[in-house]
Amino acid sequence: MYQLENLTWAEAKEAFTKCKTAIIPWGSIEQHGLQLPLGTDWFASEFMIKDLLTRDYPAMVTPPMPVGFADYHSDFPGTLSFSYDTVKQMATEICSKLVSYGITHFLFYNCHGGNAAPLGRVCYDLRKKGFVAGVFMWYELAGKINKEWAALGHADGSESEVVMAHKPGLVDLAKAKRPVHNDFGVLTMPDVGILLYQDMLPIHMTIRVQDFTPSGAMLEPHLHPGADHGQWVEEVDPAKAIPMRKAVNDYILGFLPEFEKIHFEPIVSKFP
Ligand SMILES: [Zn+2]
Repeated sequence: MYQLENLTWAEAKEAFTKCKTAIIPWGSIEQHGLQLPLGTDWFASEFMIKDLLTRDYPAMVTPPMPVGFADYHSDFPGTLSFSYDTVKQMATEICSKLVSYGITHFLFYNCHGGNAAPLGRVCYDLRKKGFVAGVFMWYELAGKINKEWAALGHADGSESEVVMAHKPGLVDLAKAKRPVHNDFGVLTMPDVGILLYQDMLPIHMTIRVQDFTPSGAMLEPHLHPGADHGQWVEEVDPAKAIPMRKAVNDYILGFLPEFEKIHFEPIVSKFP
């Protein structure tokens, strides 16, 4: 892997002749419950990428972006956020430069759920221009590879393990509280934005995090149905983050050559 910011322009020029794909890590600065620092998702991007950069594969890795779209967390002090449109614009402009250096395939190594929609929109626009682009979340892959690594929600044990492995000393697990979501009268919210009446059919509601969790931590059973949501931070072991990271990056290393076989033609509009 090539680490863009460490190269001279002449080295980058040479490296771009060998790379089809750019890997673009994206984090967030946002509240993460009572035990985790605001930089958790950014730290996760640094932690995951650190191992990826040691792998032998010709792809260009850009620096992890620290801030994303997290406005719905911003009732908790310290959260930073660009607007949805700003994230989309920033990613578009980064990709347009990479295109001019010869990149044709884009993989967003996303470390925050709120970025998925604006980055997905950028992928949509790239596809129209004939490029190949995708987004994945490390914590979704991790739990699919091994259910012991499954994310239970926002500010859970798996995020705690990653930060403890990367920045020992920043996490005080004694402060962690298992989330209890607010109910809305007889309506319950077992998952983020999922309202249930009589425990039956889901109604999707867009809300701010403070509307349903006083600590900022959130249960998100949709991430890994069937995972043991009784556990929160009881079995945290930062040593588990190392094989998890390796397995996620092994998967991405296997995926990349197949991803690069995909070829699309630009969509030509008949309208101006
Ligand atoms: Zn997070």
